[in-house]
Amino acid sequence: MSEDMKPVAPGTLMGFRCGSENECFNDCCRDLHQTLTPYDILRLRKNLGMTSQEFLKHYTSLHYGPESGLPVVCFKANPGTGHECPFVTADGCSVYKDRPASCRIYPLARAIARSRETGKVSEFFALIEEPHCKGFGVKTDLTVEEWLKGQDVQTHNEHNDALMDLISLKNRILPGKLEGAQADIFYLGLYDLDEFLSRVFNGNLLETVSVPKAILKKIRMDDEALLNFGIAWVTWMLFGIQPSFGD
Ligand code: SF4
Ligand code: SF4
Repeated sequence: MSEDMKPVAPGTLMGFRCGSENECFNDCCRDLHQTLTPYDILRLRKNLGMTSQEFLKHYTSLHYGPESGLPVVCFKANPGTGHECPFVTADGCSVYKDRPASCRIYPLARAIARSRETGKVSEFFALIEEPHCKGFGVKTDLTVEEWLKGQDVQTHNEHNDALMDLISLKNRILPGKLEGAQADIFYLGLYDLDEFLSRVFNGNLLETVSVPKAILKKIRMDDEALLNFGIAWVTWMLFGIQPSFGD
């Protein structure tokens, strides 16, 4: 599918409206090759009342980056519906409040750069103009920044930026392809969070690292804290960097 990427600033008017009045309504949910981030999965499986293992088994396929060896989790294609999203209905998205970040920001693409001195994230956006999407050319007074606020994507971005930081660290410290056992650590600590939690409390995952009791109590109750803890654990296991156990 041909596409045109046009850089836009936060104050640029979007000139875009998505809705059931568009003839293309739901088309973008019917031809997916969509990667899911750990936070996307956390939100979706909570929405559906499933464990992480049930969700991963039922809805996703796993492959590994050919150069990096990193696990990549995508929606599973279905023999009956091909690459249609399992959550699209005639009325729209059935998991709308917990839809993935990429669904929230489409038709924008987002890239980030983090300052090594201050840790501050700078964001860059581009509009992806694909021929099938008929939402363009509409008169609206919403800027890119205002439109993004309406998509409620900030929490997704914060978690996904932490994932990007982890991948950047991997590329610096272990630039080649991860071995199978290393990729398993990555998958367990980020994607299969229920199994990870179970092994934290019932297995020997924390043999080599001491974790404050308050953190252990928090990760039992709070899935977002558990994901942050998973990132800290992977950082320790793969790169030998002592976890900070921040929120
Ligand atoms: S999760 Fe919702 S918005 Fe995203 S592709 Fe599926 S149906 Fe569409
Ligand atoms: S193709 Fe574009 S306008 Fe149509 S439903 Fe998808 S995002 Fe909205």
